[in-house]
Amino acid sequence: MKCARNDTFSSGRLNPYGNIELSPSSGVLNYGQGVFEGLKAYRKPDGCGFLLFRPVENAARMQTGAERMCMPSPSADQFIDAVKETVSANRRWVPPQGKGSLYIRPLLMGSGSVLGLAPAPEYTFLVYAAPVGNYFKARLEGLAAINLVVEDEVHRATPGGTGGVKTITNYAPVLRAQLQAKRNGFTDILYVDPVKKKYLEEASSSNIFIVKGNVISTPATQGTILPGITRGSIIDIASDSGYLVEERLVSIEDLIDADEVFCTGTAVVLSPVLSVTYHGQRFEYRTGAETVSQRLYKSLTNIQMGLAEDTKDWTVEV
Ligand code: PMP
Repeated sequence: MKCARNDTFSSGRLNPYGNIELSPSSGVLNYGQGVFEGLKAYRKPDGCGFLLFRPVENAARMQTGAERMCMPSPSADQFIDAVKETVSANRRWVPPQGKGSLYIRPLLMGSGSVLGLAPAPEYTFLVYAAPVGNYFKARLEGLAAINLVVEDEVHRATPGGTGGVKTITNYAPVLRAQLQAKRNGFTDILYVDPVKKKYLEEASSSNIFIVKGNVISTPATQGTILPGITRGSIIDIASDSGYLVEERLVSIEDLIDADEVFCTGTAVVLSPVLSVTYHGQRFEYRTGAETVSQRLYKSLTNIQMGLAEDTKDWTVEV
């Protein structure tokens, strides 16, 4: 990853950003024993201080993932304090309001030495950060506009696996498919369930929603889909705004029949989908100023950037 020079929180203190020492026989290098999080700090409108969006949820998701990967995890307070320290130490890198954010990456891994297959005896928790602009470069009315392709041969998660938590190994199976999709001119892949190959799961690093009339649907997480924090926030915001929101099995037919489709995630925020290609057929969706996606995007980012009242206590000041 290309990174600005910044300070990294590791082993309970701030260190200059740089390489870390790791045993060749560490659990993370040999058995993929690691979980991570991604969150963003936005500059407040007055320019003084920053806002983190729902870091308590990131701490909780790391704890669930750590348990799945047989690791102890930092408490919510330790997690949030480390994130705050990293943001403060990197305040000079946070882009001006509206121009981007500081992306923060907490990482927990089995750093102890282990030769036979077993959890490592020691762990490392670190947090690093990098300034980021928009995740997807193609824009439409200020929002990213993306073209997805449905992949039903390669799967990112299987029932009983680790798809429901944010392990580092979840991303390895999709690297090649993702590269191929990009070479073929698509922005990202939409994965389907590995059994019937009929129900939507999620994109490579975001959750998926479809809109039909006043109804907004997203796949129920069911262990193979990451319960995105942005996903949960959009479900709440959309319900509060009077839409009927359903978490259910969403089929390819539902997708084809939708008025609008959008992806959500910390990096992608809320990105409207222009088209989805399925078995060579391209389906297009409504985009632009008067869409549900645009309305929800505004409501979400106004809270994240401190431009609207945070009635749900989602933001934490640094
Ligand atoms: N699914 C996957 C596979 C992801 O990597 C992410 C990004 N963390 C998401 C969904 C969206 O999650 P969140 O809204 O918490 O960023």
